[in-house]
Amino acid sequence: MQAPLRAVAIALLALLGLLAIVQAYWQVVAAPAFLGSAYDTHASLLSKVTRPGRLLSGDGQTLLWPVRRHGEWVYQYGWPEEFAHLTGYDSHTGLQGRLAAALFGQPPFADWRTRLLAPHPLGNDVKLTVQASVQEALYRALRDWQGCGLVVRVSDGALLAAVSVPSYDPLAVASSKADWEIAATDPNQPLLFRPLENVYPPYWGMAWVVAAAVLEAGVGADAGLECDGAWRAGRIVVRCPRSHGRLGLPEALLQQCHVALAQAAERLGVERFRAFVKRVHLLDNGHLYLPSRAGAMPDFFGWRWRENFIEASLGERETRLTPLAMARFFLSLARGGEVLQPYLLSEVCSPAGRVLVRGCARSLGQGLSRPVADQLASLLKQAARQLGAEGESSGAAWAGTAWWGAPRRQPNAGEAWFVGLGPWPQPRVLLLLVLEKAANENVAVEVGLPLLHYILGMSI
Ligand SMILES: [Zn+2]
Repeated sequence: MQAPLRAVAIALLALLGLLAIVQAYWQVVAAPAFLGSAYDTHASLLSKVTRPGRLLSGDGQTLLWPVRRHGEWVYQYGWPEEFAHLTGYDSHTGLQGRLAAALFGQPPFADWRTRLLAPHPLGNDVKLTVQASVQEALYRALRDWQGCGLVVRVSDGALLAAVSVPSYDPLAVASSKADWEIAATDPNQPLLFRPLENVYPPYWGMAWVVAAAVLEAGVGADAGLECDGAWRAGRIVVRCPRSHGRLGLPEALLQQCHVALAQAAERLGVERFRAFVKRVHLLDNGHLYLPSRAGAMPDFFGWRWRENFIEASLGERETRLTPLAMARFFLSLARGGEVLQPYLLSEVCSPAGRVLVRGCARSLGQGLSRPVADQLASLLKQAARQLGAEGESSGAAWAGTAWWGAPRRQPNAGEAWFVGLGPWPQPRVLLLLVLEKAANENVAVEVGLPLLHYILGMSI
């Protein structure tokens, strides 16, 4: 009688062992391949069970809030077009995707104390640094354009607004496949979040970087530069529409003299330029919980290195930067040379009101010395005076500059940039705009300057 019992027991044990192996294979070995695939039901299961938290702006406006529909929690949009790129349009895009763990209370944002007490799992509220009032003002100013804008608080690098135009309606894009396809194939790229995901040739914005590097290295910034309208660098000729004659670096910077700037860059040399670009983190990613691109520069080693270097120093051809990277550089001038990584996430709050995570800017170190940063900041003040708008406007004093650039053969496909810091001399905010398909920099000043004054009038 004992032998058959033993056989049954062994068979059952063997079966159990086999089950354990199969289970372990699917849950441990094969599982990572299923994450995010069509078979991964984790996210939709989670949205059935857990009520996610709200997404709030820095000034307390509700950007996303959950409602129960067909047995699932789905988000409603408080400011659909103004915040479309930040909220995203479904659980995989924008901050809905990148901050899903925080919004659904998953590790590392799980708060087990409230989890045990609440009858149903609840997610966390996420508060951004972006202020709805500033975002709305920026969106309203840019709505008729194609391009983008950023507003950063100078004291701590908090992102107060980030707009990309054209925008889109997240509800329409999420609910209809046809609407999504129209948006995804639109040549004006409404789904693209330009401040972080689009890279532009920086054009004259790069001259400020080169000037900072030259002053920092102390390589003959005082020695005269010579502009007679054209200057040959290897196989290319740098041209300046005005023959400035002899001029110093500050004048070259303010007069946008390409010839003198190229000469200054050559005096600086490739190695010092590369090292400086690295030190001010010019090509770094955004690190803002959103997809972002790194900047790019051409190769300085190949047979065309000299031409590539001069073109890079003028921000042309293959040189590309995100608007955020450009804003980060000008922010460092306003902060006495300290490079700051802006931040977007202000707080993650548990349902019980406990702050789980508090966001803050990350200092990337001293990119340039304080005297050089201050010198460039005072040049920004002079550049603002040159734009001629200070006297006529009733707003606070400001510093900043504007420039325009276009590919050689497509003068209509140019971009106009505006950087403004105010109020001067103790700036609170930095505003950066990029307007695409612009014919000159004046349009950026016409949009940017009233907007800067309007923002300075707000309590932020
Ligand atoms: Zn010149």
